Amino acid sequence: TSFEDLKSQTGYRCKKYIRNNITSSGYTEPTPIQRQAVPTLLARRECLACAQTGSGKTLSFILPILMNLKKHSEDGIRAVVLCPIRELATQTAREFRKMTKGSKIRVRALTRSMCLDPNIKDLPIDVLVSTPLRLEKLLKHKKLSLDKVEYLVMDESDKLFEMGFVKQIDTIVEACSSPRVVRALFSATLPDSVEELARTIMVDPVRITV
Ligand code: AMP
Repeated sequence: TSFEDLKSQTGYRCKKYIRNNITSSGYTEPTPIQRQAVPTLLARRECLACAQTGSGKTLSFILPILMNLKKHSEDGIRAVVLCPIRELATQTAREFRKMTKGSKIRVRALTRSMCLDPNIKDLPIDVLVSTPLRLEKLLKHKKLSLDKVEYLVMDESDKLFEMGFVKQIDTIVEACSSPRVVRALFSATLPDSVEELARTIMVDPVRITV
């Protein structure tokens, strides 16, 4: 199975800039998680994916988000990725940027200085990667709107719970209020807390295990 086969499988023609970036990253074929999660998320189905770090899970949500993203700068934030720690948020934003070279898509990891910017609402951002605490603070102070968000990904969900971000996640899920929003949970393990969240925020998600 190649990345090209994802196209025939999904009916989506991968945008040229994405194809170029996949090639220049040296990725020749999708990993098992990518083979399952990319078509699912492209079809705007919600998913609960059990995948370890190293499985290629990050690209498995980056690709469908970028493939479905229209590039109207006035549209506001269209995708949010939540990560338990800042280092992972930075790394995820970097992986996004590798895939957005040659496009006009703007990806930002929410930094402290951005949080202090009084004009943060006007920053052109298409994809926002953040830890729950930082994002929740901005939402509480009504400094950011997430009502155009179409994809909400919670990465390393088991860690998000271990670190006690339940309340923040609730606030963020509620803020992504578009009826079009697609939610995705990625997790290395599936403890009760993650299953419970899936039951609360999703209806009939596709379960993916690799
Ligand atoms: P992750 O599981 O998202 O932490 O990814 C682990 C590593 O796999 C990352 O460094 C990616 O650059 C790499 N990777 C992701 N997708 C592929 C692929 N299809 N082929 C080869 N390497 C990949």
